[in-house]
Amino acid sequence: MTELLEDPALINSVAAKTVELRRLLAQVAVDFTPAAFANSLGAEDMVLTDLIVREDIGIEIFSLDTGRLPAETYDLMGRLKRHYGLNLKLYYPRHRLVENYTREHGINGFYDAVELRKACCHARKVEPLQRALAGKKAWITGLRAEQAATRAGLAVREFDAGNGLEKFNPLAGWTKNEVWAYIHANAVPYNKLHDQGYPSIGCAPCTRAVAAGEHVRAGRWWWEEPTSKECGLHVKRA
Ligand code: SF4
Repeated sequence: MTELLEDPALINSVAAKTVELRRLLAQVAVDFTPAAFANSLGAEDMVLTDLIVREDIGIEIFSLDTGRLPAETYDLMGRLKRHYGLNLKLYYPRHRLVENYTREHGINGFYDAVELRKACCHARKVEPLQRALAGKKAWITGLRAEQAATRAGLAVREFDAGNGLEKFNPLAGWTKNEVWAYIHANAVPYNKLHDQGYPSIGCAPCTRAVAAGEHVRAGRWWWEEPTSKECGLHVKRA
């Protein structure tokens, strides 16, 4: 991947997009105080983390600890602390919701049906996200349009009707190579699973490596159809 840094056209496009990204984040921090960045700890989110922390942009950074994350993701949290001095603000699931789910459906009930998978994601991700966003005027994500069929046409700015606040996806138009060129050019920490065939990383039991040429989200909930592959954090509601 470091060979990306030898592509002048790519370096130029990353430089131009980084200027725009910095400007947008700073503007969001001013116009939508308090704003928060939901850091999923994927490669894209490391770009946003790097800019927000190094430029000291006034946007809170938080992550959702579902309790089922891979060890490599916890390792990355530790490296963020060492590299940036960043103590990630973590939100956890309500223990009663998780207890009820596992008693009714089993510890890995999410494999049995899309509805049960979504119910697990709701308890471990959506409900904590709602608490994290309470009182915020805007939230920021690292979503990119080319990541999934469900993200085609993704806007940089949209109103999140479900959570009742503005939502910014400043990397919507970034390519995968632009993300990785930024990471390598700036020596940004990233999840080691990315080097083991995991382009997209979520909970350990619901993420696996993909083969060369497979879609970037093919390893997420691989037993489901592509059109259902969202956890509920980014679902549009009218
Ligand atoms: S990704 Fe899997 S383990 Fe994580 S919350 Fe969703 S269903 Fe549960």
